Amino acid sequence: MRVPISAVTPETTEAEVIGWVHEVRDLGGLAFYILRDRTGFLQATIVKKKASESVLLAAKDASRESVVRITGVVKATEKAPGGREIIPETFEVIARAETPLPLDVAEKVPAEIDTRLDNRFLDARRPRVAGIFQIRSAVQHAITDLFFQEGFINITTSKIVAAATEGGTELFPLAYFEKEAFLNQSPQLYKQMMMAAGFEKVFEIAPIFRAEEHNTTRHLNEATSIDVEVSFADHEDVMDLLERVVVSCYTRVAEECPTAIEALGIDFAVPKAPFPRITYAEAIDIAALSIEEDIAYGDDLSTAAEKAIGDEMGEHYFITDWPTSIKPYYAMPFEDDPSICKAFDLMHPRMELSSGAQRIHQHDLLVEQIEAKGLSPDSFEFYLKPFKYGMPPHAGWGLGMERLVMTMLDLPNIREAVLFPRDRHRVTP
Ligand code: ATP
Ligand code: MG
Repeated sequence: MRVPISAVTPETTEAEVIGWVHEVRDLGGLAFYILRDRTGFLQATIVKKKASESVLLAAKDASRESVVRITGVVKATEKAPGGREIIPETFEVIARAETPLPLDVAEKVPAEIDTRLDNRFLDARRPRVAGIFQIRSAVQHAITDLFFQEGFINITTSKIVAAATEGGTELFPLAYFEKEAFLNQSPQLYKQMMMAAGFEKVFEIAPIFRAEEHNTTRHLNEATSIDVEVSFADHEDVMDLLERVVVSCYTRVAEECPTAIEALGIDFAVPKAPFPRITYAEAIDIAALSIEEDIAYGDDLSTAAEKAIGDEMGEHYFITDWPTSIKPYYAMPFEDDPSICKAFDLMHPRMELSSGAQRIHQHDLLVEQIEAKGLSPDSFEFYLKPFKYGMPPHAGWGLGMERLVMTMLDLPNIREAVLFPRDRHRVTP
């Protein structure tokens, strides 16, 4: 019976292992085959004088990255990974890999990101890369666990929509029979409608689509958004929830993924809650101290400004009290000063991770704000209707999964956090 490679210990006597040939070293009388599966590495040692004809023949045929099955005796040795080696009694090539390989899985030869993404199945055989996706899986597990513990309902909303969530030009049009339709840029309107339905606490982890104008290292055209909406809650309540989510993701990864973290060679520390909170006005003052460009009150934060503030803060932080003019129409203005609103961004020192707000739940105020943004309430009829029939006060946020993983693991490019990234130049594989 096949045993996972990590289960082969110096105490194992006989074993059957199946894995990929990670490395071959032929020293003449002696040959070493390093086998790899998702659990680890194992050295197979062939003493040519002692090995059977069939073992020698199969071993000769076993090019790097072929899948092979080996049965044999396990011996303790200090010189091999994990302090043990297998001496093959049988050796079978199950699936031979062609040569040369499009990508060096053993990472002796570095590869450009494009070569890596073109050959993602090979790239993901690298323990470092596989580790990223093991961690991403643990992050999603931590998030869903926390949401279910706190009584949330997991919803799934349509990604084919008739209107833009926020107006905007970031939409991908779709050939949808005789109608005009788009890929959804955010589940915002739908999760709010579920507040009108009385669901109280909902979450959705699903793709969002954005025709971003620029090709950057922190934007994708298809990203994964972790979205929540909570009734009878304000912006402060959902900021606290967001903090709990982020801390629980880091905590879970620290507990469950030490090997993957080690393979990535990063310093990993769980951020401490509560995260500092600064207002938008304070944020632009901080930015103005260290960057040349003028930031006027009411301007959105540029990448340079975000970076300057991030350097100063040095940890996760919230920016609150945004000018109503630069946040979406559904953000709730403060009663005593409607020029600012109950919106917030959660920032990592490197970039924005999440945007959220208490939402407007009053129909007439919402229509006013839609008009103030130069949008037509007519195109939002389906969304506005629930606000006429008992919409509870509510708040929520959207958190970018890839940005969360990217910043957590100090990855240079957001594409590293997606199996099959979609950007301006890439729709395959
Ligand atoms: P940015 O200003 O950084 O482009 P945004 O403010 O347009 O982001 P939101 O509409 O606030 O983004 O979306 C909420 C979250 O979704 C963002 O904070 C981010 O984590 C994630 N997100 C949005 N757009 C993208 C994208 N194109 N690629 C990856 N993640 C994204
Ligand atoms: Mg935002």
